[in-house]
Amino acid sequence: MYKPMDQSRKEITMKPIKLGIIGCGIAAKDLHWPALSRMREKFEIVMVCNHTAEKAKEFSQMAGNIPYVLDYKELLGNKDIEAVDIILPIHLNYQVTRDALEAGKHVMVEKPLAANLEEAKQMLELERKYKEVVMVAENFRYHPIFLKTKEYLDQGKIGDPYAVFWNHFCHLRMDNKYAKTLWRLNHQYPGGFITDGGVHNIAVFRDLFGDIISGISSTKSVNRTIGEIDSMSFQFTTEKNVNGVFNTYYSANGYSENRILILGKEGTIIIQGDRIQIKREGFPDVEETIESDWGYRGEFEDFYHAIRSGRKVVSSFFEAYRDLEVMIAALDSAEQWKHFTFKKE
Ligand code: NAP
Repeated sequence: MYKPMDQSRKEITMKPIKLGIIGCGIAAKDLHWPALSRMREKFEIVMVCNHTAEKAKEFSQMAGNIPYVLDYKELLGNKDIEAVDIILPIHLNYQVTRDALEAGKHVMVEKPLAANLEEAKQMLELERKYKEVVMVAENFRYHPIFLKTKEYLDQGKIGDPYAVFWNHFCHLRMDNKYAKTLWRLNHQYPGGFITDGGVHNIAVFRDLFGDIISGISSTKSVNRTIGEIDSMSFQFTTEKNVNGVFNTYYSANGYSENRILILGKEGTIIIQGDRIQIKREGFPDVEETIESDWGYRGEFEDFYHAIRSGRKVVSSFFEAYRDLEVMIAALDSAEQWKHFTFKKE
């Protein structure tokens, strides 16, 4: 799991990485830019690309009138650019990552790794083949609240964890900014929002409790206009012998919840919003509020140090492959109403 650099240590000043951004949509503007704009000593955005001019221009102006192009291959042809941040519709991840690596650029690409397992396997091939740094922008792997949870578990604050329950209920209406993106509504990858959002949760389960080794799920489509399915209950076990239940429901009318409960032999951890609570019989409750930017800065820090210092990235293609593999196995298990088990390699 990710360990932030010791902030008290004076970092050796290295040159900022010359970065190109491919895709200037919601995640680029609302999630990546706020982090990057505070890290100018580490990243210099030198060119952006969006295939429609309005969004390219808007991002360019927001970032200080940097040059923009409409064709990502033109950006890849820019010799100054060392690394690219790919923030595109999911079905383009493989093609653009491959082209970027062929052009000699380091790559950070948004989650999920790819639109299907075939392309995800090809992404693993790319990770093996190229010496350039590749990573997936799985921000939950850097999210301070989950890093703190891991610390508490490692310190034995609740003894051995044996069960985890994550309830994620919301009502995704058609006026939601993400629901308005056509590539999500006409998704070219299994599971729609369940996969798009669910890989985040799977990443956390795996980071905290080890690989998911078996499971079964049931799914539903309540509001087909937001995609193929919008509701799932997934029950699983992990290699550390933890039982899990993940409920993710995007059409919960009049109710929202995002809450994790971890049962340990000597206590319980509850995570809700930015708060972690530890409850143990006979001891006062411990409650902590964790300041967080949802891990976006952490992922860029990791990308930077991998490029400049050769540190291994935490959010590798391999980890993202495993997250997606679990998601797809869970979806398949719902169709067949049959458990899946991953064989040990
Ligand atoms: P989005 O708003 O639709 O952004 C995608 C952008 O790519 C759009 O501006 C689109 O332009 C542009 N585009 C499409 N095809 C292109 C091409 N061939 N060349 C250049 N630009 C192209 O979607 P989003 O919500 O930002 O999601 C993008 C990625 O970020 C997805 O992988 C998603 O899973 C991920 N994401 C991650 C998080 C997180 O928390 N980590 C949150 C949200 C999204 P047009 O709209 O003009 O077609």
